[in-house]
Amino acid sequence: MDLDQFIRKVPNWPKEGILFYDVTTLFENKEVFAYLVQELIKPFATQKVDKVVGIDARGFVLAGVVGYRLGAGVSLVRKKGKLPHKTIQESYTLEYASETIEMHEDTLRKGEKILIIDDLIATGGTLQAAAKLVERLGGKIVGIAVVVDLPFLGGSAKLKKYKVHSLISYYGEQVI
Ligand code: AMP
Repeated sequence: MDLDQFIRKVPNWPKEGILFYDVTTLFENKEVFAYLVQELIKPFATQKVDKVVGIDARGFVLAGVVGYRLGAGVSLVRKKGKLPHKTIQESYTLEYASETIEMHEDTLRKGEKILIIDDLIATGGTLQAAAKLVERLGGKIVGIAVVVDLPFLGGSAKLKKYKVHSLISYYGEQVI
């Protein structure tokens, strides 16, 4: 399936010069969504995964279904201030803002095998920070799965010590 034709591209959003890859248009289509989930789990289907960690907010849509399909639990990485219990935090700079993300300090058990899911890798800051949170809590990262990779921004290179699985890559700001 050619995912590209189902991804909405929004030029100059959330600010001038950014081409935003809006994957919600993949979620809206039942055939495309089913394909997406099937392809995301493929490399991890025969591996033991205890928990799928989903990143706020589009990552949540995928993490729930992927966790269910892999027989794993689901943990959340949220933007600062959204989690009610005690948290640990990591701060970083992303493609168009700076951000702090958090996890509940008791959401993982030491040694659990973790698959991290998000919609997109741009600079890789978000996933690097999420990976740090997971490792600080004692999780063992078995992989990172995303829908879109923008390798020209260097994110996937930064994450190369992990098994990174992406479904589609764009090699420049293709403004449509
Ligand atoms: P980064 O930390 O730079 O890898 O940014 C990744 C996070 O920001 C992901 O959670 C994406 O949802 C979002 N993001 C960054 N750049 C874009 C983009 N060009 N299109 C869509 N989402 C983006």
